Amino acid sequence: MKFGGTSVADAEAMNRVTAIVRRQIETNPNDAPPVVVVSAMSKVTDRLIESGRLAGQGDGEEAVQLLQDLLDRHMTVASALVPVDSSSALLATLRAEFAHLTSTVRALAAAGEVPPRSHDEIVAMGELASSRIVAEAFAARQIPAVWVDSREVLVTDSEHTAAIPDMAATCERTRQLVAPKRAAGKVAVMGGFIGATPAGVTTTLGRGGSDYSAAIFGACLDVEEIQIWTDVDGMLSADPRIVSQPRLVPQLSFLEASELAYFGAKVLHPSTILPAVANNIPVRILNSRRPDAAGTMITAEGREHDGLTALACKRGVSVVDITSTRMLMAHGFLRRLFEVFERFKTPVDVVTTSEVSVSVTVDNPRRLDDIAHNLRTFAEVNIEPDMAIVCVVGENLRGDTALFGRAVSSLRQIPLRLVSQAASRRNITFVLRDADVEAAMNRLHEEFFAG
Ligand code: ASP
Ligand code: MG
Repeated sequence: MKFGGTSVADAEAMNRVTAIVRRQIETNPNDAPPVVVVSAMSKVTDRLIESGRLAGQGDGEEAVQLLQDLLDRHMTVASALVPVDSSSALLATLRAEFAHLTSTVRALAAAGEVPPRSHDEIVAMGELASSRIVAEAFAARQIPAVWVDSREVLVTDSEHTAAIPDMAATCERTRQLVAPKRAAGKVAVMGGFIGATPAGVTTTLGRGGSDYSAAIFGACLDVEEIQIWTDVDGMLSADPRIVSQPRLVPQLSFLEASELAYFGAKVLHPSTILPAVANNIPVRILNSRRPDAAGTMITAEGREHDGLTALACKRGVSVVDITSTRMLMAHGFLRRLFEVFERFKTPVDVVTTSEVSVSVTVDNPRRLDDIAHNLRTFAEVNIEPDMAIVCVVGENLRGDTALFGRAVSSLRQIPLRLVSQAASRRNITFVLRDADVEAAMNRLHEEFFAG
């Protein structure tokens, strides 16, 4: 069970977490207890990064003040959750760890430099502190919990701020340090996002890395299910800012989730749950404010159902049309063309081709002038800004050929600039004017999700 920053934001939120974990244990009395992975309390990672940044520019006092404020916040939450007679050890630990970090930050500020290794040491404080508090809060409410130091379990390389886990070593440590606690009926509480090199130097997995930690530990323990507790009900059939009444998507496949995330659907970054999906462990997204809601289940296969799974869109893209009569019957043209995008490090999303022209979309216009200039040495180029990609996703698109027609006809009268369906046939992509996004999304939603 992984709880994100908003789910552990304050004492009230942590009380909700306690109730959720207690219920999980009580409703599954014959199962091993859950392992709990927590993020830093919300905004704490941002503040720690800020503290490091200030230290890096030599602003020691400001950097230390930020740490002091964070210590106060953690002390307030800890004191609210853990009764006085058992809180002294926890409060002393928090104070000592922040004091140690404070002297580190002072030294860094004096040097005016924060190397990546020190950056990781600073930001790791967020998950260390939140996980210690949650473990004590559980214990104070008769949940048999033990705090486990994730830095002793999650083994990574030394690529600080974006460390890569060593799965074999981590699973070995998980078997040694986490599995026995579970077997003894204890809830292991661990910080997400943080790990250490084989030599024990603290590392972090990159922003949002707690989901990744949960998937890694879950895969190592071969758990039945990984629950990602957050502050929304799950994946929605469309962005609620664009479609007025989106539906909850009860279940989807991992690849559908990847397509949707690529085109802007938030909630969870699919690559972070890859270790779970690769081991066939379902991942469920749940809302810690509404624990009774069913949530969204992501599995390797998805689920048999009618219609489509969800819609997504990406706004403000540019379409680049590249036309060349030299392309007629020529080989090597595409290589030459894409090489220009590569040279200017500009990713391309949608591609369609005809005999003499290629159209692509890019969402980052920064290098478009340079790209156009280079392309014009061998082709005609036309750029259209203010376009958008609307993406219709569903494993069913492969089996039910009528869906494609229904999608296209629901968009009648909206000019479609490009239409593409890849061989996987898991999605249809429409490129249209950004001004038409609301109409297009709502019509598609009406067609496939209403009623
Ligand atoms: N606390 C880290 C972050 O804010 C990791 C996480 O929340 O998943 O990026
Ligand atoms: Mg998070």
